[in-house]
Amino acid sequence: MKFNVIFLGLLMGFISNVVSSEESQGFSFSILSNDYCQQLLAEGVITNNNPVPCERLRRINFSYLDESSKIKHDGEWVVLDVLAPKVVALTKKLLEQKFIIFNAKPIEDYNGDDQLSMADNNSSSFNGRAITGGSSWSLHAYGAAIDINPVQNPFIEIDADGTARISPIKSARYAVNRLNQRPGKLPRLGMAEDVVDTFAQFGFFIWGGDWNYPIDYQHFQVGPRSFVGTLVAMEPHKAEVLLDKYISMYLSCKQNRQSDLEQRKVRAECAGRVIAEMR
Ligand SMILES: [Zn+2]
Repeated sequence: MKFNVIFLGLLMGFISNVVSSEESQGFSFSILSNDYCQQLLAEGVITNNNPVPCERLRRINFSYLDESSKIKHDGEWVVLDVLAPKVVALTKKLLEQKFIIFNAKPIEDYNGDDQLSMADNNSSSFNGRAITGGSSWSLHAYGAAIDINPVQNPFIEIDADGTARISPIKSARYAVNRLNQRPGKLPRLGMAEDVVDTFAQFGFFIWGGDWNYPIDYQHFQVGPRSFVGTLVAMEPHKAEVLLDKYISMYLSCKQNRQSDLEQRKVRAECAGRVIAEMR
């Protein structure tokens, strides 16, 4: 009997270890080690002038559904500390929704080169770089933006003379047309339109697909730059309370209009209300 109790205890311990190691393998976040920060500095992915120091960043490890509908456990993004629990919850929701992610490696795997990352159809977050074609910091340099499936969701620069440039090049004749129910054509997987509301539910209210130019279908960010600056300036637990306030505002706005048949319009109007409040 005693033996059985011990055996049962060992067995239960073994099972709970397996479960917790699977959970931690699946979804977690952690601080970046000094060595890792030094590596980012050496690779130029972060500099000492960045708007967010390395100690305010967190590494997210997550599972996702790849293009052959298999669950992969190697998803890795780096985000601002206050956003880490939200991004973990977001990645869980994306998997639950069976949203396909083609690659999810941190940008240092590409030496911080966004063009290489996009060409590899890689979804990523932190990158200590300026905005494309400009000198101010990108929201990626705050760890407050995520780019998802660049080949399915290209970045389109549009000049005043009407010239358009599409990145990555693979997208040019594949994903500029955003319609996904077309005669004789299979729907494309991993389109950002499928998850605009999901991102908003976890605080990413701004979608680059809503812009006139550039149009950045792959890009989701938490709020206007001024708001992200406010989050960075606050103590993390206070920043979390502020972010929760905006997420609740969005969710209750949507809840009040649950019966509206035009849910895309509801998303746009509710997100618009929250973004206006953030300015
Ligand atoms: Zn982006």
